[in-house]
Amino acid sequence: MDLKKETVFGAVIAAAVAGVVFFAPSGAPKAESSSSLPSVSVSTFSLYESARAVAGEGLEIRTIIPLGSDAHMFSPTPKEVARIGNSSLFVYSGAGFESWAEPLRASLPQNVEVLDMSKHVKLIRSEETHAAHHEESHEDEHDRGAYDPHYWLDIDNMILMTRKLEAEFSKLSPANADLFHKNAAAYVAELQKLKSEYANGLKECRSRLLVSNHDAFGYLARSNSLESVSVIGLSSDEQPSAKNIADIVALVKEHGVKTVFFEALINDNVAQTISRETGARAVSLQPLENISEDELKSRETYLSVMRQNLHKLREAMECR
Ligand SMILES: [Zn+2]
Repeated sequence: MDLKKETVFGAVIAAAVAGVVFFAPSGAPKAESSSSLPSVSVSTFSLYESARAVAGEGLEIRTIIPLGSDAHMFSPTPKEVARIGNSSLFVYSGAGFESWAEPLRASLPQNVEVLDMSKHVKLIRSEETHAAHHEESHEDEHDRGAYDPHYWLDIDNMILMTRKLEAEFSKLSPANADLFHKNAAAYVAELQKLKSEYANGLKECRSRLLVSNHDAFGYLARSNSLESVSVIGLSSDEQPSAKNIADIVALVKEHGVKTVFFEALINDNVAQTISRETGARAVSLQPLENISEDELKSRETYLSVMRQNLHKLREAMECR
């Protein structure tokens, strides 16, 4: 995304905010709220999962980015902006993932608490995720932000997010602090279990090279000692150059890579092209920026999708 587009986003949000009245008369029920519980608006799927696990029945958690859409491409409608303005707390991923969040944040009524979750997790600088093979890195990627925003794919970061939400929710609703504490402890235990499944599952593998169409898997790679190589940069709206594709094709052939991953919910043309030219299989890996409608229907969660990802990684890398 270029600067011109960012400015347009800002203008759209400013216009949306100008047309919206946030303050309901005192004592009147807040618009769009189906319950009397304080409501929390969260932007991305991983935040939604963690928030729901911690809140239980104690808060109303609602997601901003519609399920099944490409989270990189989202920008809020005026109606959505109004809903966020009527929440008690607005949580977003940050680190440049939601280009719309910063201008929106500045325009919210003062009684809406705001939490930029990227300030409370361990981030990777975006340069670090560019593997040696990706030295032709794009100038505009560096304008986008200094950090790789896909941090929820490091399970340790999911644990930090869960603990931070526990603390914030307890401030929002002190009467439910015990419930939030109990819920957070249970979810952290689940995440720890998942983490040890990854450690064991990826311990002994023939290959540790993770080739993908979009550089969304830097955190997954780092936390499991894999080397991540991607065709395009950190944002899925970039178009790869013919040279990028040729470089990856050469790399796949040189290392005898048998599987090329593409990001679920994103056009898989690039992975298919590489697959055709190299004979490697193209397999989808879920970066959990969002979940698809189908995954939602079959009640998939952060935990279950991460287990599916692990299964695919183990097959691709021939792990024992
Ligand atoms: Zn992404």
